[in-house]
Parts: sequence; structure tokens; C-alpha cells
Amino acid sequence: MRHLLFLASLLLTASAFAAKPNVLLIIADDLGYHDLGFQGSKEIPTPNLDKLAAQSLVCTNGYVSHPFCSPTRAGIMTGRYQQRFGHENNPAWLPQDTVAGLPLTETTFPQLMQKAGYTTGAVGKWHLGAHPQFHPNKRGFDEYFGALGGGHMYFPGTGGGAEYNIPLNRNGKDEAQTKYLTEQFGDEASSFVERHAAEAKPWMLYLAFNAPHTPLQAPQKWLDKFSQITDKNRQTYAAMVCAMDEAVGSVLAKLDATKQRENTLIYFVSDNGGPNLQAKSGSNFTDNSPLRGAKGMVYEGGMRVPFLVSWPAKIKPGKYDLPVIALDFLPTSLAAAESADLTPKNLDGVNLLPFLSGEKTRAPHDTLFWRSGGPGGNNAVRRGSLKLVRLGKAEPELYDLATDIGESKNLAAEKPEVVKELVSAIAEWEKGTIAPIFESPRAGKPAAKKKKK
Ligand code: CA
Repeated sequence: MRHLLFLASLLLTASAFAAKPNVLLIIADDLGYHDLGFQGSKEIPTPNLDKLAAQSLVCTNGYVSHPFCSPTRAGIMTGRYQQRFGHENNPAWLPQDTVAGLPLTETTFPQLMQKAGYTTGAVGKWHLGAHPQFHPNKRGFDEYFGALGGGHMYFPGTGGGAEYNIPLNRNGKDEAQTKYLTEQFGDEASSFVERHAAEAKPWMLYLAFNAPHTPLQAPQKWLDKFSQITDKNRQTYAAMVCAMDEAVGSVLAKLDATKQRENTLIYFVSDNGGPNLQAKSGSNFTDNSPLRGAKGMVYEGGMRVPFLVSWPAKIKPGKYDLPVIALDFLPTSLAAAESADLTPKNLDGVNLLPFLSGEKTRAPHDTLFWRSGGPGGNNAVRRGSLKLVRLGKAEPELYDLATDIGESKNLAAEKPEVVKELVSAIAEWEKGTIAPIFESPRAGKPAAKKKKK
């Protein structure tokens, strides 16, 4: 009898282990809110992401924790508001700088997944520090291939400055770019998925495209598809989104071919809203409608993003309308990996699984916060459907997103008590934050380290 029990418990352990899902986190860069088929675009067809959306809970009130690149990634990698540890700017490309990067004091998402028994890989844009101490292999990823800086040229040898034209990097060694970068990242991710398919260990893959971030460069076959778009910038941007959609499709096809799709938990977001480059180009080539604002701003256009969660084995496709944030990916993944006990106590993200399944009907978050530019910079806070925006020293603005997704009708004068409550919520939240520990690089001026007080 005791033998039987022992055998049964062994079998249970084995099946529980086998049941752990793979985790695939896909990030787009500077994608416009409206620029995907499932987000309503009629202009840019994205059949692969649309198919993923049909297999997903589409989170209609999905956010990232910052309106621009690196801080959003720092939030995803830690499950914490990045202002808590001073990561509120983009690190400059300074390989000798030990400060400008995701602080080593933070425990990362892939480090925790490794503890949960996962093989971890990252493909694509890193942008969490140029010093070797910040390299993905040092921050929890068993495997890395990609561009370590904040962006990269799409065609090999096409020029460009600073980190946009450095060699790609594989596990700490330079490697040549061989093709259109988005396609190469897709190939690399497919290869990872295939390589680890037959292993007993589950895997986590962080696939961070730099597309469709500038520079505007696209393969001719996709440019030809959009010959009807007369604005050159918009045409190229649309072609870049399609190239990314095709790369995502190749990874999804590989998951199907290796019979891993059913038990793979996939997230898809953009790292921030589409930029408004109207002043520079004479044309606004991303489309953030119906949202107000753009990349860099704390209006919805800055950080409300296309947001998918898909796990065919466990999550029923459909729509989820309560606010969620990319900080939730870490605790949700640990819970999915049956390793919730590894979840650090200091997270801002929550395990979404009981909410997405309908087991819990209340909102996953009572309040969500954003801040850009350090203390005294631009703040936003959302509680229920009400959102307060405070730009520096200006009077706070208040919007009801349930009826006014475009933040066009300022209700601050009508609801002074709500304004007061949300302003004090910001003050309370800011007690748990610090000033930025490094500055974003400025054109023509090397990034100076900010002295800590
Ligand atoms: Ca970005």
C-alpha cells in the first residue's frame, strides 16, 4: 500500500510538472493603439495577431506602466512600478555606466521562472542597460539573441548612429545581422520554441520586437502591398507592422507544429502608445484613435495598449474589460507555473488568473498609477472608470473613461471631492517611489548621472 501511495505521488508530481505551461511574452514597440486588425484597423491587415486575439481574452482596458520604452520593460521584468527603484528614464548606450540600467537589487521575472523550473530565453530589444552587468544572461535569461540597445537598423549595414548599428548579440558575443531584423527575430524565436519542444522542462520566451519603432524601413514586398497609402511614412510603418505580424505568425505556426500551443500562455502588448511625430515628418503615421495623446504622455494614448492573454488549455477566449497592467504578467505566470509561492511580497502586479476565469468578479486593481519625469512631473491615476491627469504644476484634470475614452470632457470642476481623493492617492503612492537614478540621453549631450541626495 505504501509503495502504491509513493508511486501515485510520484505520478502526480510528474503530471503536475508536465502540466506547467510554456510562457511566451511578445512585445511590440511604439505600436499605434488602432493599428491592428483586432483593434479595428481597416488599413493594416494583421491576420496572425487577429488569430491570436481570437484565441485570447482581449483586455480592452490593458495598460503598461509607462508611456515609453525602457521603464515599461523594467516594470514587466519586476512586476513592480519602476518608479519604486528609480528606473523612470531610458538608459543611454554607455557600456561603462553601472547605474543606467535595471538595478541589480531587483529580482527579475526570468530569475523567478528559472526557480520555477523553466528554461528562459529572450529574443530582441533589451534596453535595460548597456553595461555587461545588465546583460540578459546576467538577469535571468539562459539564452539571449538580439539588439542590446534601445533600437536597431532593420536592414544589415544601413548605417545609423550609436546603438542602432552595433552588432547583434548572442549570449554576450557579437553576431552579424543576416536579414530584415523583424524576420530574423521571428526566426530566432521559432528556433527557440522548436529547440525546447521535446524537453521535459517548460520554457519562458521574452520576444521583444523593436518594430514598428523607427527607423522607418520595410521590406519591398510589404511596401508594395500598401501602394495605395500615399503618405510614405504611413506606408512604411504599415509595412513594418505587417512584417511583425508575419514574424508572430511564424512563431505561432511553430507552436502548432510542435504541439505546444494548447499549453502555452501567451501575452501580447505594445511597450507604449504610438508616437506623434507630426512635427517631424509632416504626418502622424501611427493611429492611436480613439485615444487622446501619444507616446510619452500620461493620457490614454501613452500607455493604454493592445493587450492579449491567451492560454487555450485554461483561458476561455473573449473580452475582459476591467483594468489590467503589464506588471501582472510576472505573478500571473508564476501562478500558472504552480509556483505562486515564489511570488515576491513587494509586487504591484497581481495574479490575473482568478479574474480572467471569472472566479473573482471584482477589479484586479483598486487603483493604477503612472508618473513620468520624476516627482513633480506628470502623473495619472485611475480608480474605477475615473482617471485623473496632473501635468506638472497644472490644475488636475478628471475624466470618466467609461463614457469618454478620448479624455475630452474635464470633470474636475464638477467632482472636486474625487479630484481631492485621487490627488491624495498620488501623494500616498509617491511615498513608495524615489527620484530617477539616471537620466534619458539628450541629443548632443552625453547622459549625466543624477547625484543622489
Ligand atoms: Ca517604445
